[in-house]
Amino acid sequence: MPKTLKKKAAKKAPAQKRAVAKKPATPKKIRYVYYFGDGKADGNGSMKPLLGGKGANLHEMTRIGLPVPPGFTITTEVCTYFYDNKKHYPPELEAQVASALAKIEKSVSKKLGDRANPLLLSVRSGARDSMPGMMDTILNLGMNDEVVEIVAEKSGNPRFAWDSYRRFLQMYGDVVMGVQKREGEDHEPFETVIEEVKHAAHVQKDTELSPDDLKTLVERFKQLIKERTGKTFPQDARQQLWGAIGAVFGSWNNDRAIVYRRKYGIPHEWGTAVNVQTMVFGNMGETSATGVAFTRDPATGEKVFYGEYLINAQGEDVVAGVRTPHPIAHLAKEMPAAHKELMKVRAILERHFKDMQDLEFTVEETRLYILQTRNGKRTGHAAVRIAVDMVGEKLITRKDAVRRIPADSLAHLLAPVFDRQSAKQAKKIGTGLAAGPGAACGRVVFNAEEAVVRSEKGEKVVLARIETSPEDLRGMIAAEGILTSRGGVSSHAALVARQMGKVCVCGATGIQIDYQKRTLSANGTTLSRGDYISIDGTAGEVFAGEVATAPSEIVQVLIDRSLDPKKSVTYQEYAKLMKWTDEFRRLGVRTNADTPEQVANAVAFGAEGIGLCRTEHMFFEGNRIDAMREMILAGTKDERARALAKLLPYQRNDFIGIFTALKGLPATIRFLDPPLHEFLPNDHAQQNELANKLGVAVEQIARRVHELHEFNPMLGHRGCRLGIVYPEISEMQARAIFEAAAEVQVQGIKVRPEIMIPLVGFPRELKLQIDIVRRVAGEVAKEKGTKFNYLVGTMIEIPRAALVADQIARDAEFFSFGTNDLTQTTLGMSRDDSGSFLPAYAELDIVESNPFASIDQKGVGRLMEITRDFGRKTRPNIKLGICGEHGGEPASVKFCHRLGLDYVSCSPFRIPIARLAAAQAALES
Ligand code: PEP
Ligand code: MG
Repeated sequence: MPKTLKKKAAKKAPAQKRAVAKKPATPKKIRYVYYFGDGKADGNGSMKPLLGGKGANLHEMTRIGLPVPPGFTITTEVCTYFYDNKKHYPPELEAQVASALAKIEKSVSKKLGDRANPLLLSVRSGARDSMPGMMDTILNLGMNDEVVEIVAEKSGNPRFAWDSYRRFLQMYGDVVMGVQKREGEDHEPFETVIEEVKHAAHVQKDTELSPDDLKTLVERFKQLIKERTGKTFPQDARQQLWGAIGAVFGSWNNDRAIVYRRKYGIPHEWGTAVNVQTMVFGNMGETSATGVAFTRDPATGEKVFYGEYLINAQGEDVVAGVRTPHPIAHLAKEMPAAHKELMKVRAILERHFKDMQDLEFTVEETRLYILQTRNGKRTGHAAVRIAVDMVGEKLITRKDAVRRIPADSLAHLLAPVFDRQSAKQAKKIGTGLAAGPGAACGRVVFNAEEAVVRSEKGEKVVLARIETSPEDLRGMIAAEGILTSRGGVSSHAALVARQMGKVCVCGATGIQIDYQKRTLSANGTTLSRGDYISIDGTAGEVFAGEVATAPSEIVQVLIDRSLDPKKSVTYQEYAKLMKWTDEFRRLGVRTNADTPEQVANAVAFGAEGIGLCRTEHMFFEGNRIDAMREMILAGTKDERARALAKLLPYQRNDFIGIFTALKGLPATIRFLDPPLHEFLPNDHAQQNELANKLGVAVEQIARRVHELHEFNPMLGHRGCRLGIVYPEISEMQARAIFEAAAEVQVQGIKVRPEIMIPLVGFPRELKLQIDIVRRVAGEVAKEKGTKFNYLVGTMIEIPRAALVADQIARDAEFFSFGTNDLTQTTLGMSRDDSGSFLPAYAELDIVESNPFASIDQKGVGRLMEITRDFGRKTRPNIKLGICGEHGGEPASVKFCHRLGLDYVSCSPFRIPIARLAAAQAALES
């Protein structure tokens, strides 16, 4: 950017040079304001960092000849300056704004605050990435006690003039002057006044208020502002303009915008731009309208024009969900010319931006204007369908398609739906719009705070609101699903839910929500807070009580095999996408699975082997836990060997199942890892029962439990430390693996075990364990007259292992990063109880994200780099993988790609996500 270049150049220029220069370099004027209008624009669509998303696209749309009202954008650099300089503006700004304003005035032949021809403006935020509803907007700026009369006279429409004035007062009062809901108030104060005036006028709808009613409303609003702030609403248009600009920049740092940025990883330093634009009016009467539309269905991705509008209204009415709008198809009947024009714009926008667009439009006395376009937010289903369809339409390439689908959004596709049978029997109490697909069931709550509190306690909740506003964000994040009784598919609730991938039903008009009583009633049923409710965001249905869920279509095709793939469009598009990801990715994708069933699921999702089989999970099944406990309670080596002999056949059978399900794919099998007390009962009754079963005294069991108890088991007698102290455990496990391998090989199935030793820190730990494995392998091979193709390696879970990886690699044939443990040992934070302070750490920007969810790249990641380099120094072809939870998290998968690992391993249902993220990583590099 010219500004920063200039700064650097000035700093670096040596003093003498400056002295001999002919003319001192006058710093080039920094442009803070970009004008657009009449087919020309100072900016363009590629300038999102500087002009914000909304601004850049307004400039771009102007350039391609779309009907955009003229305006100007104040850059995001001004926002940064504003916060760096105690909320002051750069000195040049005022003049630049004045000059851009003059251009608007010239273009539309109106003047701000003019008595003859007053100009009205909108002032809107617009960050680089859209943050829907999080920041502030002001419409009808320029209205005052005089201007309203002139507008009434010139338009011949006093109702429109007074309605516009009261809207301006309402927004200005709220956003600039801070007249907002106080604690304990359920409604916005301005809305309360509107309700009172409507009541006095005996009307139901806002549109039924007469010009005189609106005049009353204007007076009441001015009084309200005075009462609440002690200040008078400013009549001067320029003062209004600067007040609005300041408020929009100020809203970058309001609470909800901060929460939003944190959730979506938007850097705080980006800042917002401010767009000041000529107002056009959708509320000028029956030939005017306002609406929002998506060029394709944002819920399903189907190629249909999808949206809604309101006649005689302003944009905020549609988005706020205060009135329920009409579907866009109606517009063809009500305003055929504008509809035709809009269809043309739809085609132009998709061709130009090559993505599904979400646009805002206004029809002012039959003339169409486009006020905004951006790439539309969409569900996971829609993301896949739109991208795959656009490849078919030759609008984008397969690489584009793979790049643009957020990997995490595939989780939507795999989300459960209600079991059809169970939903049929359930008591349906209402229907609304299907705004966020999937099935959710939980306890109903009526405000965001309660949703947060209950979900922190581990309860599943559904948040029910008449309508939502950005204040509800935290509650929406906490809830399983969101239900509103008012508002359309582009209402706040719907937009936010779609983006978060939350199940959402909105505009369920038959449902009465009573905030005071904290009840919801419909169809003769009343649910109180805490009662179970189930909502289907795919069908738009609401049920009382708990409804069983059923797997998604993809799961029905791939896992349950209960659905014919030919009958599922969703599956077919998913399958195409997955095929493309496999063409592009370099990173292998394995699974963390411990049972043949999990392995089969994972292979169906595309797993290329097992990256982690936690053998301890096998000891909990059926009555094998008894033999395990007997082993733990054994006083002597012989007793332990006897108990282990009982475990051997179980474990062998498990491996037979797993190797068979793998059909020749490799399996990394980890030896026993958790501390032994985790296998013993803690309460007296269970200890008694076990004593009776084993024929020992209950005191003996209690004593052993006591002996094994550890204050922090994660750093105690676990991992390879078990096999070191009790080598016979490792011996049994090795025997189980090789005997199973022998048995499966006989059937002609290849077996490729990769035996993995956990929690190694010292090279000798690994050496001792490997000696056991190799000896047992040799013995079994001899006994069975066969050969084994196997590897032995270790997990990297302890910083010491990373630091001496060159020595460990002498024996280890592979490394697998156990990033769950490596994170806790590197950060010194327990993976089990760091939840008590990590949220505060995120809030204070100490950590960028939860390090147990997404790899701490600078710390843990650095150790991974060291391990890679040291490991390869000793053993250039050492196989490298990851099997911590991070292996299924897109940012971590991409990091693993950059690190040059051979594979990531994750839970079966995250495999599609990992495949997509791996392909994206390959395309990014
Ligand atoms: C790890 O620590 O990352 C790992 C995969 O092992 P576990 O989660 O079983 O400790
Ligand atoms: Mg571990």
